[in-house]
Amino acid sequence: MKSAYLLIDYVYDFIDDKGVLSLSERGQSIQPNIIKIIKKIKEDEGILYLCNDNHEKDSYTYSPESKLFPLHCNREGSKLYIDQDVFNNIKPNKTMNISKTMYSAFNGTMLNLTLKQQQIEELVLMGVCTDICVLHTAIDAYNLGYKITVISDCCCGLTQEGHQFALNHFKNTLGARIVTSKEWL
Ligand code: ZN
Repeated sequence: MKSAYLLIDYVYDFIDDKGVLSLSERGQSIQPNIIKIIKKIKEDEGILYLCNDNHEKDSYTYSPESKLFPLHCNREGSKLYIDQDVFNNIKPNKTMNISKTMYSAFNGTMLNLTLKQQQIEELVLMGVCTDICVLHTAIDAYNLGYKITVISDCCCGLTQEGHQFALNHFKNTLGARIVTSKEWL
């Protein structure tokens, strides 16, 4: 079965201490695990989608998120929070950027179409927040018929309780396989 990795919202505004909606230390602590997985993706010549929130100041006013969260992931805030060196030697057609404006990486993006064009059937999810954007992306993936694996220690929730709730939901309701990065490597 052909699979692709999705790294969701691992960007400045959600991870850096100065980010608008920062998970700070909890979010930063999963970075080494994510980097290990990216190295494996490179070795295996796997496919990695970088699915990042990208809000424009003007259109954000109309987003339902604007009633809940201040403007975030606008320009610099949506920059990946992983050193560019980690991506050295990765083939250009093996990593793709999906710019999203809703929680789910499928909503209003090219993601499903591109996955179908590559005959991808399984998605391996990483990123933040486990209980918001990873959750909504996983639910859409389930409804679209993808098999789902979640690397638990490459995800961080808005709260620890939310993280645990989402992991249980992936497993018990979406039939996902939950693994640690150690198990996956
Ligand atoms: Zn957002």
